Amino acid sequence: MSTVAAPAVVDSPWLNAQRQFDNAAEILNLSPGLRAVLREVRRELVVRFPVKMDDGSVRMFEGYRVQHNVTRGPAKGGLRFHPATDIDEVKALAMWMTWKCALANLPYGGAKGGVAVDPSTLSHRELERLTRRFAAEISVLVGPESDIPAPDVNTTAEIMAWIMDTLSMQAGYSVPASVTGKPLEIGGSEGRPSATGRGVNIIAIEACKRLGMEPSQTTVAVQGFGNVGSWASQLMHESGFTICAVADVTGGIYSRSGLDIPALLAYRQEHGAVKGFPGCEPITNTELLELEVDVLVPAAMENQITARNAGRIQARLIVEGANGPTTPDADSILERRGITVVPDILANSGGVTVSYFEWVQDLQSLFWEEDEINVRLKKILQKAFNQMCEQADRHHVSLRLGAYLVAVKRVADATAVRGIYP
Ligand code: NAD
Repeated sequence: MSTVAAPAVVDSPWLNAQRQFDNAAEILNLSPGLRAVLREVRRELVVRFPVKMDDGSVRMFEGYRVQHNVTRGPAKGGLRFHPATDIDEVKALAMWMTWKCALANLPYGGAKGGVAVDPSTLSHRELERLTRRFAAEISVLVGPESDIPAPDVNTTAEIMAWIMDTLSMQAGYSVPASVTGKPLEIGGSEGRPSATGRGVNIIAIEACKRLGMEPSQTTVAVQGFGNVGSWASQLMHESGFTICAVADVTGGIYSRSGLDIPALLAYRQEHGAVKGFPGCEPITNTELLELEVDVLVPAAMENQITARNAGRIQARLIVEGANGPTTPDADSILERRGITVVPDILANSGGVTVSYFEWVQDLQSLFWEEDEINVRLKKILQKAFNQMCEQADRHHVSLRLGAYLVAVKRVADATAVRGIYP
């Protein structure tokens, strides 16, 4: 009797990112040399550093900064503080940043960083010491002309301020353009906190138009209620979508008729989580993903929609607020089932786009009104959306592959034009 092994479920974000790249490289018919360059990261820095804890003890932490590609400009990408962060995850996130910046046609390469830590276990003072020491450790790579960090999971404007201050103390003068997502008082940009969620809303509206869906008759479930998920919920609610479910790491809530998002934001502000919001049913994160809604917005972590649950997703449209929430195996299942996925490298690119505006404003010491920022953001995202659709339609492929065809080609062309040093 022979036994047939079940197909392995690959949940390595890095291997998944490489697979996504390979699919695009194949259609673009990239030369073996270009493929070899683009499917690896350019630089990876691992730092291990001590932090003095409040009780006088010393704890060691591990952190990362990875630059995937810097051919089109300085490296750009967020910093994540999460216990599950590791080099494999950061490499994938850095590669996705390269494609994201290229798709929006921002003059940046891709980077990402993080520290393996659960910041909720640290005091505020410990968090500041950890952040400042980490900033000093990665300062060999970062700077306004080389590599510009930004917020990501569990990192905030305050954390960006500590990083900017640390880098400025080292330089001997203020270097506001060394980091984006900062508070307004030190060169932050209007519209940056809401930018990623605003981009999710803009792209959701565009995707609905393409699919013949009306926001006012469209129900939505949002996984994650942090920076991206809460702003996406708020702005999609304002656009007329009915947000039926949201969840954070502690659990989720559901109301068939739709949640009162302004009231939920106030509730979360007071209670720190969405759980227990009156007038709705509690649901798990697993249940949220499989709800009968029209649109699903994963806005938490990677590997949420996998070969294990893709067959049970009921939404017609998935708009990826998070980075890497859908694995390539899940993508194939969703495509077969006729479910449209708007990929992360477009759907959440509002954040890096306004980060780019922030960097430009810092370099020029000339600041823009929020209206101007939002108009420019919308224009860039709509253009990228149309270019993605054009490639997807031309090659009869998914929107993810369409987006990769635009992005990878831009980076490949830039690499070819620069040539190989020396
Ligand atoms: P955040 O720390 O502000 O919020 C994360 C949210 O996800 C929190 O509500 C948390 O409770 C929830 N969460 C964490 N693990 C979860 C789980 N297993 N199940 C359900 N919920 C969970 O982070 P963020 O900045 O909103 O980032 C969310 C995602 O968006 C990440 O993938 C990040 O890389 C991506 N992203 C963020 C930005 C940005 O500007 N902040 C830009 C582009 C992409």
